[in-house]
Amino acid sequence: MGAESQPITVLKGVGPKLAQKLERLGLLTAQDALFHLPFRYQDRTRVVPLGSLQPGQAAVVVGDIELTDVAFRGRRNLICRISDGTGFLSLRFFHFSNAQKENLVRGRTLRCYGEVRAGRDGPEMIHPEYQFIDDAEPETESALTPVYPTTEGVHQLSTRNLVQQAVDSILPAIKEWLPQSILDDLGLPNLRQALLTVHRPSPEEDVALLEAGRHPAQQRLVFEELLAHHLSMQRLRERQRKHEAPVMKGAHELQDALLANMPFSLTGAQQRVLDEIRMDLAEPHPMQRLVQGDVGSGKTIVAALAALEAVEAGYQVAIMAPTELLAEQHLNNFRHWLDPLRIPVARLSGSLKNRERQSVLEAMATGTVKVIVGTHALFQEGVSFAHLGLIIVDEQHRFGVHQRLALREKGLDDGRAPHQLIMTATPIPRTLAQTIYADLDVSTIDELPPGRKPVETVVIPDTRRAEVVQRVQSACQEGRQAYWVCPLIEESETLQLQTATDTEAALRAALPDIKVALVHGRMKPLEKERAMAAFKSGETDLLVATTVIEVGVDVPNASLMIIENSERLGLSQLHQLRGRVGRGADKSSCVLMYQAPLSEFARQRLAAMRETNDGFEIARRDMELRGPGEMLGTRQTGMQQFHIADIVRDRELLPKVRAAAKVLQSDFPERVQPIIERWIGQRQDYADV
Ligand code: ADP
Ligand code: MG
Repeated sequence: MGAESQPITVLKGVGPKLAQKLERLGLLTAQDALFHLPFRYQDRTRVVPLGSLQPGQAAVVVGDIELTDVAFRGRRNLICRISDGTGFLSLRFFHFSNAQKENLVRGRTLRCYGEVRAGRDGPEMIHPEYQFIDDAEPETESALTPVYPTTEGVHQLSTRNLVQQAVDSILPAIKEWLPQSILDDLGLPNLRQALLTVHRPSPEEDVALLEAGRHPAQQRLVFEELLAHHLSMQRLRERQRKHEAPVMKGAHELQDALLANMPFSLTGAQQRVLDEIRMDLAEPHPMQRLVQGDVGSGKTIVAALAALEAVEAGYQVAIMAPTELLAEQHLNNFRHWLDPLRIPVARLSGSLKNRERQSVLEAMATGTVKVIVGTHALFQEGVSFAHLGLIIVDEQHRFGVHQRLALREKGLDDGRAPHQLIMTATPIPRTLAQTIYADLDVSTIDELPPGRKPVETVVIPDTRRAEVVQRVQSACQEGRQAYWVCPLIEESETLQLQTATDTEAALRAALPDIKVALVHGRMKPLEKERAMAAFKSGETDLLVATTVIEVGVDVPNASLMIIENSERLGLSQLHQLRGRVGRGADKSSCVLMYQAPLSEFARQRLAAMRETNDGFEIARRDMELRGPGEMLGTRQTGMQQFHIADIVRDRELLPKVRAAAKVLQSDFPERVQPIIERWIGQRQDYADV
């Protein structure tokens, strides 16, 4: 057994108990310890004169005690003032013993380490580490001190000690898996050098660069981690491709018939994506394609056209929506399009009476219904299909790799897997998409249907509510329709509901001539559908809603949207909401109301909304503000947590990662598995799918 795969217990001081705790950090082998990377560094390599300390700086200082005193400032605290001839510093302790106080005698010399802050009486350190050195020379470290992630019951010092042991014992034997040609090309250090630098950076290294994760040594590790991720996803993809799927290669008669009935023709981008889908469906392997496109780019019709290809080939299609509301809307759209072609469409929903439900289930099982719309309930126990050939998942960001795999299992028919088409309205730049969704092929609808006018967005404080109500009134009197969105601001759904209900009542009272309706997630599906149908038909003018309308809702005549508490929402969510207007001929506007004062973060978000209507640009800014995991929901996308990589910060490496993966796969296939193991190791690596 190589040194690297030895259990962590080979390291000194690690018994079964500690090993268990370390497992929580993902440290199972001695090699894992070597790849446990610092997230911060302390500079204990030199003594900083007191006179040059800056607030926020962490530093080693040396000084003589001038005075020690107990002060009462709200609470009892011990203050010890030291000086070194260049300046003064106060050490402040909120917890202290008598003995401690007695020992801090005037005239003794202290060496301290801590973070400096600006106190009321000049610079101070709260609870610094300190030791008496008196006449001895102050000791300093010869390397920057790394700070590691730890877990409950494992001290920073023991973590550091373990990692440093691993550096001594394992690093010399660590294998370099990157071929020399790639290393030369990157201009980054080799693995051994990189690990040595991050664990024992010399005092000359740039701490700011290290803390930002941009040091060449870290970039070397980032590169390998991204490579491991990419290789693992590629492997998953290859395994998927080994499954068989129905070949759908028709004359596209149904598609042509639908297009002939449409009042518009496809945009170039829609046509291109449709061609990509057709090509996939004609293959004997399951399609795994993600279609991304901004809100309103016309993904639904592309989905319908894909569905027709499957139907023409004699298969059923399941369309999965994230909410009942959206399922209802898809049902209506699909019926509208497919009824003239005599293709039966059904919906499986929670609101069906038992008898209806039974008959839908039977129609699905016998194959008399071709297109079935529903939520994830479509894939529950007791639901079966006659010949499921295609699964369409709308608004993908709530479904991850695991769900995708589960869907495939459910849809297996004679050992053949259905094709999968996934639609998302949170478009992200191509290189990022290829990394985040590396197990999928990505198509992008990067063009809006002609004639769309950008939504004009204004940002208004809550105090000017009366004006906003006035604006709604004028719009509705002109025959336009409006949404008034009350997003979740309380953790409790009941309270959120309360807000929406109160708002509805207040608006009804303020706008007696306007027909106001309410829609929220707690309504019975049938009520919800009625409310939406009434709004769509123009019976109601103003729809007060919770964020249930966030995704997908399509009412072209609605051209005004008010969003309350917009400062609490993420950029992508705001963009989704705003995407509900600007779908018709009228010039649309969106009013973002907020409660002052705005945090800097919120200010930036709202400014971004005002500045751009472009979903890609919004996604880019959202990722910069929040990080991709937060924005896309790491768990939902199935994107793995990275140890050190940050795909936004490190995005420039991504094309090189893909190129390196190709080289490894073709010229060094035996290195693929070890790289994956090193970085992804015991974590879920979808090995059995
Ligand atoms: P999304 O991509 O957000 O799901 P939809 O599929 O709901 O967008 O489409 C938004 C609106 O644009 C719908 O009313 C749809 O009928 C219309 N639409 C789609 N494609 C075109 C097109 N090529 N030309 C004109 N209008 C289109
Ligand atoms: Mg949609």
